[in-house]
Amino acid sequence: MTTKTGAVRLTGLTKRFGAVTAVDGLDLSIEPGEVVALLGPNGAGKSTTIDLLLGLLRPDAGTVSLYDLAPDRAIAAGRVGAMLQSGGLLPDLNVAEIVTLAASLYKAHRPVPEVMARAGVGDLAKRRVGTLSGGQRQRVRFALALVADPDLIVLDEPTTGLDVEARRAFWTAMHAETARGRTVLFATHYLDEADAYADRVVLMRAGTVIADGTPAHIKSLVAGRTIRATIPGAH
Ligand code: ADP
Ligand code: MG
Repeated sequence: MTTKTGAVRLTGLTKRFGAVTAVDGLDLSIEPGEVVALLGPNGAGKSTTIDLLLGLLRPDAGTVSLYDLAPDRAIAAGRVGAMLQSGGLLPDLNVAEIVTLAASLYKAHRPVPEVMARAGVGDLAKRRVGTLSGGQRQRVRFALALVADPDLIVLDEPTTGLDVEARRAFWTAMHAETARGRTVLFATHYLDEADAYADRVVLMRAGTVIADGTPAHIKSLVAGRTIRATIPGAH
């Protein structure tokens, strides 16, 4: 077990919903600068893990530490930005207004025009959120995750439901952030996205980590018979 300060330290994390154990004794460490994909089929426990990591759910057992801080402390300090799987945007605000509103929640934040440009929505500043396409809306949500200039960016299925063009636009914006040394954890059920955009892939099934390694390593496992059936794009 490593003891130096990491971006993420999850130990023995467990969460039950009635009879379902969504996350089952999960251990995961992420070092600063890593870009990690949390890959798994629907129901694997990815979102529950992320919600526990962010302190949005209380674990039944186990611990969460982000930069040696409890999640609420790390988030209040602006060290963590997140984009959850669901969650709407106020439709009547324009893009600049909604990013400004998010920025106002932090004592220190990046300049709003810079955040919008980074997220690939700079040209949409005056557009009402309600008139945007799904892909544009996802990039606005990405802008909100970037507003506090976080060290760690957590994204839950950021491109699910988007078309190819919107997926590419999203990852272009994301890549600009990882190039600046951000630590990223993104959940996905797309093997191709884990392979293309992560430098480490953590494969989850039934609430636990079943494999953890380079994209090439995980791809070779997924190509094997046991895991193949559960991951779209693995055929
Ligand atoms: P994933 O994000 O990988 O699709 P989830 O973390 O959403 O997986 O779900 C893991 C398991 O926990 C699933 O069986 C799901 O039905 C169950 N689950 C998740 N959230 C709840 C909840 N709020 N109440 C009951 N069951 C839940
Ligand atoms: Mg999910």
